[in-house]
Amino acid sequence: MTKCHLISSALFLSLFITCNSCTQTPKNPEKDNTTQKLEVATPTFNADSAYWYTKKQVDFGPRVNNSKAHIACGDWMIAFLKQYADTVYIQNCELKGYDGKILISRNIIASFNINNPQRIALAAHWDTRPWADQDTVRKKEPIDGANDGASGVGVLLEIARILQANEVGTGIDIILLDAEDYGQPDDVAPPNEDSYCLGTQYWCKNPHVKGYKAEFGILLDMVGAPNATFTKEGVSARYASPYLDYVWNIANEQGFGQYFRNDVTAGIIDDHKYINEILGIPMIDIIHRTSDTPSGFGAYWHTHQDNMSMVDKKTLKAVGQTLLYTIYRFDANKGI
Ligand SMILES: [Zn+2]
Repeated sequence: MTKCHLISSALFLSLFITCNSCTQTPKNPEKDNTTQKLEVATPTFNADSAYWYTKKQVDFGPRVNNSKAHIACGDWMIAFLKQYADTVYIQNCELKGYDGKILISRNIIASFNINNPQRIALAAHWDTRPWADQDTVRKKEPIDGANDGASGVGVLLEIARILQANEVGTGIDIILLDAEDYGQPDDVAPPNEDSYCLGTQYWCKNPHVKGYKAEFGILLDMVGAPNATFTKEGVSARYASPYLDYVWNIANEQGFGQYFRNDVTAGIIDDHKYINEILGIPMIDIIHRTSDTPSGFGAYWHTHQDNMSMVDKKTLKAVGQTLLYTIYRFDANKGI
């Protein structure tokens, strides 16, 4: 008891001294600046809306190129974005798959503040894998692509709605990329890495605006799984390290560290690779990576398990809210 009492007294004294000295210390301008950054007004990301937009895409059916579901979903997204964006660009193209099949494709770009040269590019692919080649059953049938495809788009559609309602000066482009997931299955030889990301490769060579540039970009891919872990992916770390740290620090500061992990994992081929390498726009990839599977992707990846049960509102919230903090803080500070 006595010891306990002594500790309490000492603690009280030290607290008193600390508090007293605090009030007499001149204000630290650097600290004030940090506080100001934290207080940038940021709208709330509505995960219910993002979940609904994700489900809406899944309800069309698998968004496989040349299918009715693909056309219908594309039409719906264009009509949606036209309600909120300043300008919507529709890039129609015919792309050749690894097997020679012509894929009728559309890249859809929704732009805000088109005259501001300081821009952020936000991207996700909207097509879905035509086969469940990583599954053990019904391997030839298309997958729902609830997480791999629809989740990233769902988050970006909600961001579009919010940007229209909460003024921002920075130029923002929401880029929905097509024909990402028609890549050659692993059991076909020889490997053909560039058979993925066909819509992106086309867009990089034919941007919707001549000479298109953005200060940086963020790609979303598989951002909805329950308890997803987003690591610092290798291609992002190589080409866009300052922006990767910027976004990850914001996520951790806002309490989303459970999702945004600080470990660096191997680089992967995804849309951001081409955007970094062809257009020279530093772009990071927020993508679910795990050490639990040989592929490093979630066990649902390219299987029939990738359905709405693989979309959790809490994960959508962590990603969407982090994106909003990133956008509005960048906007307030005119840079990172
Ligand atoms: Zn995929």
